[in-house]
Amino acid sequence: MSLRLPKTDLFIDGQWTPPSTGKSFDVVNPATEEVIAKVASAGAADVDRAVAAARKALEEGPWAKMAAKDRAKLIWKLGELLLKYNEGDVAVLETAHNGKPIFESQYVDIPHSAECLFYFAGWATKIHGETIPTAPDAFTYTLREPLGVVGAITPWNFPLMLGIWKVAPALAAGNTIVWKPASLTPLTALRFAEISQEAGLPPGVLNVLTGFGLEVGGAMVRHPGIDKIAFTGETKTGVQLMKDAADSLKRVTLELGGKSPNIVLADADLEAAVRGATNGIFYGKGEVCAAGSRLLVEEKIHDEFMAKLVDRVAKLVPADPMHPKTRLGALVSKKQMETVLSYVEAGKKEGAKLVAGGKRFDVGGKGYFVKPTVFDGVANDMRIAREEIFGPVLATIPFKDAEDAAAKANATVYGLAAAVWTKDVKKAHTIARRLKAGTVWVNAYNLYDNALPFGGYKQSGFGRECGASAIEHYTQLKSVWVSLT
Ligand code: NDP
Repeated sequence: MSLRLPKTDLFIDGQWTPPSTGKSFDVVNPATEEVIAKVASAGAADVDRAVAAARKALEEGPWAKMAAKDRAKLIWKLGELLLKYNEGDVAVLETAHNGKPIFESQYVDIPHSAECLFYFAGWATKIHGETIPTAPDAFTYTLREPLGVVGAITPWNFPLMLGIWKVAPALAAGNTIVWKPASLTPLTALRFAEISQEAGLPPGVLNVLTGFGLEVGGAMVRHPGIDKIAFTGETKTGVQLMKDAADSLKRVTLELGGKSPNIVLADADLEAAVRGATNGIFYGKGEVCAAGSRLLVEEKIHDEFMAKLVDRVAKLVPADPMHPKTRLGALVSKKQMETVLSYVEAGKKEGAKLVAGGKRFDVGGKGYFVKPTVFDGVANDMRIAREEIFGPVLATIPFKDAEDAAAKANATVYGLAAAVWTKDVKKAHTIARRLKAGTVWVNAYNLYDNALPFGGYKQSGFGRECGASAIEHYTQLKSVWVSLT
């Protein structure tokens, strides 16, 4: 598998163009610590150019006049091309800048992104208003129209997929887009821009600006020409973003952080729950917003369950992300690795018991790898139980009964996801209702479908991605009153 780099200039109005700043920045492979690309660093003037191109494409030209069925075909084609290039280079690129196992890029993230395009291609022809009977001398109806120019700002953990979660519904609804990917992982967004050219997406419909959060993201959030910001990232960035968006009263949807509880009741299928607990935290190296980072285990089965878990975790060894058998890759950056290791120290200091991992690990003398880490005896008020670590660190919290589990699970500012493992249907549904989270899994973890809404309760954000509800966040309603008198 060889690395084929995409073009590294900015993609504006269907053209590859150098940044106004004249600057570029390095993209590093976190598994090898090598610089793999130098990418254009956009500035505020480039945001102006991209917004102007997106506005023009929205209001004149082929996209503005395109029939919904033709829009659908174009979005479908984007999905087909993405699948076509998945094995060739997109998956390799995703793994190279993020450090995630190629298995995840090739068989999960990129196919899921293509499925997202297929799913929303179907929506393009099904977005419509309603006729609403009001007065006998009137014909009254609604039109569901695009919001306008959408700014997408995305993080580094699922570099392509979280962009596509925004691009696909935005295009289905007829909007145009300016997308700023995370500065650590900009390569697959650029590759997708190339794919959009090949698919024949009209110029200006999708623009990709690589650069930094404050310069590019900040300029987008404050830009009067952008109608909506679709953001995924940290909760504290989301707070700032809402403030910055207020002056232009921009619509915002925020997909933010999490500290999701994974609850194992004593009557659960323990083998399945151990697999679910492991996958829940170590998939994506724990750099997953919905990661089951708090494992709540019923006291009665605690010792048996932990023995099985530690046994399974011991078999999970970080390895070269490009190897097809690897299941735990490198953390995205040195800084992220240091943050994760600092939480390990905090956990030890606060009195939690380290039962697995807790150390850096190198592969061939290189890379930002951390061994899968498990703490036991964690109290819900410790930092490792309250704060999002965003790495392969699991905090195990014992509980007495289902009531205690739900109370502990909800004792967090976050509310992105949760899971419960039990064979008792009544308990499963009762706890699922009590959990304050946007997604609740029962006897499963980390399952997603493009048809199912995904988003947060509480400080995990608002708005929903995927599913029919996403369409509402990319459209606005107009009421039309025709007098028949
Ligand atoms: P950040 O919030 O640091 O960054 C996200 C994006 O916002 C990046 O593109 C970043 O640019 C940009 N940005 C940073 N500051 C600003 C600003 N002031 N104005 C506008 N844009 C800005 O998140 P991370 O990249 O660290 O991603 C990890 C976070 O994402 C975790 O908290 C995780 O939980 C969350 N997440 C949430 C998901 C969900 O669906 N709820 C899914 C996946 C992740 P730059 O790259 O230059 O910093």
